Amino acid sequence: MTDNETTAGTETGLWPATPAKSAPAIALNEDLNVDLAIVGGGFTGCAAALEAARLGASVAVLEARSIGYGGSGRNVGLVNAGLWLSPETIIAQMGENYGRRLIDALAEGPDRVFEIIAREGIDCEATRAGTLHLAHSPGGLADLEKRHRQGNAFGAALHLLDAEQTRQRTGSDAFHGSLWNPKAGTIQPLAYCRGLARAALRHGATIYSDTPVRSAEWSGGVWSVQAGDYTVRAGALLQATNAYDTAWAAQGAHRYVPVNYCQFATRPLPSEALETILPGGEGCWDTAMVMSSIRLDRAGRLIVGGMGDGQGPGGRIHGGWARRKLRALYPALADMPFEHEWSGRIAMTADHLPKALALGPSGLSIFGYSGRGIAPGTVLGAAAAGYLLNGNEAELPLPLIEDYSERMTGAKAVYYEFGASAMHAIAARLRPAR
Ligand SMILES: Cc1cc2nc3c(=O)[nH]c(=O)nc-3n(C[C@H](O)[C@H](O)[C@H](O)COP(=O)(O)OP(=O)(O)OC[C@H]3O[C@@H](n4cnc5c(N)ncnc54)[C@H](O)[C@@H]3O)c2cc1C
Repeated sequence: MTDNETTAGTETGLWPATPAKSAPAIALNEDLNVDLAIVGGGFTGCAAALEAARLGASVAVLEARSIGYGGSGRNVGLVNAGLWLSPETIIAQMGENYGRRLIDALAEGPDRVFEIIAREGIDCEATRAGTLHLAHSPGGLADLEKRHRQGNAFGAALHLLDAEQTRQRTGSDAFHGSLWNPKAGTIQPLAYCRGLARAALRHGATIYSDTPVRSAEWSGGVWSVQAGDYTVRAGALLQATNAYDTAWAAQGAHRYVPVNYCQFATRPLPSEALETILPGGEGCWDTAMVMSSIRLDRAGRLIVGGMGDGQGPGGRIHGGWARRKLRALYPALADMPFEHEWSGRIAMTADHLPKALALGPSGLSIFGYSGRGIAPGTVLGAAAAGYLLNGNEAELPLPLIEDYSERMTGAKAVYYEFGASAMHAIAARLRPAR
């Protein structure tokens, strides 16, 4: 393969191609009566189903495509503690009460994810070696110093590493320093999502694939959810469709800006390269405004990610950028082919905070993770199930809102994609930090 020969255009990418147990895959074939109907089989829907089933409720997940088809099966796999925003920004935007609740709940997010993986025996390349937030510039390092100060004041145990320590961990001299969060880690995200679904099934949930929901109505004290020729009657409804909403669920399309992120995976690296490139197994992303990520998978493939739609009109630009990025970070890998390439959609809200939107009585939509959905999706999915089954709003670490819409989401999506393409077109080479 040459630089430009990738598997562009496939919807699949690396994760479906690497070992992951299969997911439940039958379509809805009868009418049902359940306590909780969940639309969408990603982290949010599957974590909610697992929690509901463990609470003893009857629950059905209705997934339009396959389990993990959306962002959950396409993501980088960084199990982060918290959101993109710094704790002080979250408090400033949400107020002291909900700000603290959300920060505390998400700080424990990686614990929840790795506990579920251990308890349910999910084989998903779980690696708890922490994450490195990499300073791409002196300004990026100043931002990390601020995050270090704030994070530790809020109880996180973050470690600020200098350029030399960062070089030793990443094997690259491109970075000015980094922030290491030892509580975080990496997973094979599709395997985790499928594992959640299998665990929910074992605990008594029913899971349906190839089951697009086309309407959901509240009448006579019960939800009637229509999918194909069948009706699911449910006491409560969770919409967990995030950036992949279709048909009925897409009524919320103006609630976030869809932002694309693409990834490129090499073949497994030779063992001598693995001695210096991320030998500790941390997952990494950087401080650049048009951010990028690097990580290894269990087989030793290096996965480079960046903003933009690799399968869209700017695909060649993003592919060329990934090649130059690999070359700049690791000159010894300059000609290493990419064997997998894929993209996914992120649901970005204007304030970069997830939302809990009431859908009438006993209904809830959780969306807008803004690129942080593994731990938040797991935590908020479980919290949503608890709230919908018990009616106790205190279970939710987000304020319940009655209405939510954003303006000019289409134009903003074009702006993000254009910005990523422009930055990738001009980002010819990284300069060593030293
Ligand atoms: C490329 C990429 C990289 C990312 N990297 C990270 C990362 O490293 N760490 C991190 O924490 N987060 C990351 N994220 C964010 C994270 O993946 C998402 O926030 C998360 O997957 C959202 O999960 P979800 O279950 O809410 O939605 P999704 O996983 O998107 O699932 C929604 C599901 O709903 C289904 N659906 C839609 N409409 C209907 C309908 N009408 N009927 C039935 N089903 C329907 C879809 O088919 C889909 O499967 C990344 C996202 C992307 C796209």
